[in-house]
Amino acid sequence: MIDIKDLKKSFGSNHVLNGVNLSVNRGDIVAIIGSSGSGKSTLVRCIAGLEKPDTGQILLNGEEYLDDGKGVGKIGMVFQNFNLFPHYTARENITKPLTIVKKMEASAADEIAEKLLRKVKLENAANQYPATLSGGQKQRLAIARSLAMEPEIIVFDEPTSSLDPSLAHEVFQTIKELAAEGQTMLIVTHQINAIKNFATRVVFLNDGIIEVDGTCGEVFENPTNENLKDFLQMVE
Ligand code: ATP
Ligand code: MG
Repeated sequence: MIDIKDLKKSFGSNHVLNGVNLSVNRGDIVAIIGSSGSGKSTLVRCIAGLEKPDTGQILLNGEEYLDDGKGVGKIGMVFQNFNLFPHYTARENITKPLTIVKKMEASAADEIAEKLLRKVKLENAANQYPATLSGGQKQRLAIARSLAMEPEIIVFDEPTSSLDPSLAHEVFQTIKELAAEGQTMLIVTHQINAIKNFATRVVFLNDGIIEVDGTCGEVFENPTNENLKDFLQMVE
């Protein structure tokens, strides 16, 4: 579905991505791990079109999608700090992109919002503003908003790192339910335990290069790459 070929990105003399090759297939749950500054956010921001790579290709179903608007709505993005619209209610956070970007009728957008709010267990918070929601509720709303666009893939950048453990668990439950429904996902996280035995693949990024791309067993139980071993020792 997503094919990334020899992606490079520098900020001035800081070479952040140094030739990343990665394929994500439909139904994959790919976790991206790696130390701070290894380029994880830069990589997922390139995929979401928020950052422009210097060279290399990013294809969706075999086609370039970033420059010509073809990818609008096809890549969902969920951030650490939620990025909700503060002046809209929970329901409006879902309906506004549908009526404004997708030009959908208000009644149809409302129907989708009701369904998605139920899905993330926020049906009783529809009229609340983001400031009145807990961190876990905010993140579940961000997930619902991203689902409304029916993205082919949802990219999460540390979705739970600003949440305490019980709220993080709640959000990962929602993420796991989506995975069970077949939603393709790419998840950047430092929370190794949350993705163990759940990610279909784990990718270890080090200095802007994918050094390991394997199953949970290959990455967590029997790592052979020395940098990966050091990293795991640090985070576990
Ligand atoms: P973390 O685990 O801390 O989130 P990361 O793996 O996501 O780290 P990135 O955010 O991708 O790392 O950053 C990689 C490098 O690129 C860092 O040195 C960072 O300072 C630099 N960088 C990222 N975005 C920019 C930017 N917009 N302008 C300049 N430098 C940037
Ligand atoms: Mg990051």
